[in-house]
Amino acid sequence: MSSQDPTAEAQPPEITQEAVDQLVEQAVEAFAAASTLEELKQARLAHLGDRAPLSLANRSIGQLPKEQKKDAGRIVGQAKGRVGQVLAQREEVLQAERAEQILREETVDVTAVPARRPVGSRHPVELMLQRMSEIFVGLGWEIAEGPEVEAEWFNFDALNFDADHPARAEADTFYVEPPERNLVIRTHTSPVQARALLERGAPLYVAVPGKVGRTDEIDATHLPVFHQIEGLAVDRGLTMAHLKGTLDRFARELFGEGITTRLRPNFFPFTEPSAEMDFLCTVCRGEDASCRTCGGTGWIEWGGCGMVNPNVLRACGLDPEVYSGFAFGMGVERAMIFRNQVGDLRDLVEGDARFNTNFTVEV
Ligand SMILES: [Zn+2]
Repeated sequence: MSSQDPTAEAQPPEITQEAVDQLVEQAVEAFAAASTLEELKQARLAHLGDRAPLSLANRSIGQLPKEQKKDAGRIVGQAKGRVGQVLAQREEVLQAERAEQILREETVDVTAVPARRPVGSRHPVELMLQRMSEIFVGLGWEIAEGPEVEAEWFNFDALNFDADHPARAEADTFYVEPPERNLVIRTHTSPVQARALLERGAPLYVAVPGKVGRTDEIDATHLPVFHQIEGLAVDRGLTMAHLKGTLDRFARELFGEGITTRLRPNFFPFTEPSAEMDFLCTVCRGEDASCRTCGGTGWIEWGGCGMVNPNVLRACGLDPEVYSGFAFGMGVERAMIFRNQVGDLRDLVEGDARFNTNFTVEV
């Protein structure tokens, strides 16, 4: 702008209507172009400041011949009035905009959710283990725990597994080096049964929640490390009826009213007789032949159970003529598939807080 040119100071513009109109036009354009109060201030200094052409023109009137003063004064006076008016209008607009912006930026949204650190929570599997344990505590049972790295003797021999039982194969079981220490990652929670019997003797009612390992590849339905809950009752006069009653109670408390269990004959080394245990389909309750959850059978496989094998009682120093017992074990993750609609077991081990958090608000 010419007004910024220091040499222009000494040269007041010619005072004609046309020349002054042009100065007014320049000022009006500059004010309109200013988008902030700061820019408007710069435009005001350029067009109305001491060194602005219009101000120079105003000061030069005094030096004009008398007969020109009146017209020049009118032209410059009107111009200054017009420029001042446009400036005031623009200033009002920009001040309103700034006020609105401040209001917007400083508004407190009382409904806003504050940014806060997510609260930590226990893992869904942990919560499930606790829920299951509490059911047994409610029955008056004790909770027992044992080592996850277990002596092969407790994991297999004490439970009546033959020396050549296929479950002992390295294809199924994680062995811990060096081999001469005979340690395995326990393949089930059953060794805690033997430990509890040896430590506490009979009568005994214990539930054993815990982590176990098998050499499965990880996929949607298998994990190499998963969880079981195991129950063992040893007392005088226990029968299959006590076993069935306990399982029905457990299934009902866990899955809801009306969910019962059924037993199918099977073989396990540590129980005799042994049975597979199913629970009633939680979706169709056995009333929909096209149910996808249970494949139309009405039942969902859950675990194994049976009367404690006399050999196990003997191995733990009890007389099978005096004492009898029952035992059962079931998968915790498997229960969660049906109880909590966990569609892919990998979700349980990947540690995604968005998945895990859902369980902490479960009722
Ligand atoms: Zn079903």
